[in-house]
Amino acid sequence: AKEPVRVLVTGAAGQIGYALVPMIARGVMLGADQPVILHMLDIPPAAEALNGVKMELVDAAFPLLKGVVATTDVVEACTGVNVAVMVGGFPRKEGMERKDVMSKNVSIYKSQASALEKHAAANCKVLVVANPANTNALILKEFAPSIPEKNISCLTRLDHNRALGQVSERLNVQVSDVKNVIIWGNHSSTQYPDVNHASVKTSAGEKPVRELVSDDAWLNGEFITTVQQRGAAIIKARKFSSALSAASSACDHIRDWVLGTPEGTWVSMGVYSDGSYDVPSGLIYSFPVTCKNGEWSIVQGLPIDELSRKKLDLTAQELSEEKALAYSCLS
Ligand code: NDP
Repeated sequence: AKEPVRVLVTGAAGQIGYALVPMIARGVMLGADQPVILHMLDIPPAAEALNGVKMELVDAAFPLLKGVVATTDVVEACTGVNVAVMVGGFPRKEGMERKDVMSKNVSIYKSQASALEKHAAANCKVLVVANPANTNALILKEFAPSIPEKNISCLTRLDHNRALGQVSERLNVQVSDVKNVIIWGNHSSTQYPDVNHASVKTSAGEKPVRELVSDDAWLNGEFITTVQQRGAAIIKARKFSSALSAASSACDHIRDWVLGTPEGTWVSMGVYSDGSYDVPSGLIYSFPVTCKNGEWSIVQGLPIDELSRKKLDLTAQELSEEKALAYSCLS
């Protein structure tokens, strides 16, 4: 039998946490034959709610779930974890300045970086979900210098999946037949959902999305804004944020990272830029990646047209500004 994998979820008593932990315990993240031990962290005001989640995990009697640690102690939470999903963060509240929110999150991610660095298992893989996700991941990377940068990422898979969903709805095809969309850049409204390299499996072979959707105005306009603003549309409809799809895509992100992407398919991940596609290095930026043997690599050599170039640069610009703001909060 396989040894259990320890998975940390921070902010585990929150909305995404509540949707995410049962998925992990059912094997959605790491596979149906992989036992897990869940480590759930939240802050003291949420301790009672966190204990309630633990009670439900016991009641659900998940066969793969070999243990639950529910704690408000960051060291206890981080000790020995192999995978860390960082969902906890300070929310944007009405009337708060951008800088105030950033400042709160910078201090959270700085301290959690130290705890992970000291206490997580060697080679722990980290996924940051809490917003501003790219910049929180960057702070985590900077303050956990012994964690290799290849082990730190942020979530743009939800945006990626939303783009697949929009194409499948438009063409009335199965979402599983659509592949290789790309989310470039920041997990924010400047992200660039790109279908220039995407394709659809048809009875006549693989066809480019650009050929099947001949409506360029839709692809260059409404498609992009729908993906960018989908989160807000869901809040408007549900009165709560998109916790179900965020949790599901976090599982997709880790699963593909650990178990690999299918041959010929790439996914989007926020990772530390090495300067590929002339994106400034030193930012956590979403790129198309393939994964093998537990490591991602950025897909190289895709042609970038003029419109795309502008959009890649715009979202990089925003990330550089966020980085500067984050650093100004540190001093
Ligand atoms: P959610 O579980 O709904 O969201 C958690 C974080 O994920 C937020 O930063 C949110 O960003 C972000 N996020 C990223 N993608 C999405 C998406 N598609 N849909 C929704 N959210 C997304 O928040 P809750 O308030 O329910 O839970 C947060 C938990 O974190 C609470 O249990 C709280 O106690 C804990 N917490 C921990 C802190 C710490 O560790 N020090 C500090 C503060 C809170 P956005 O804000 O932009 O919606």
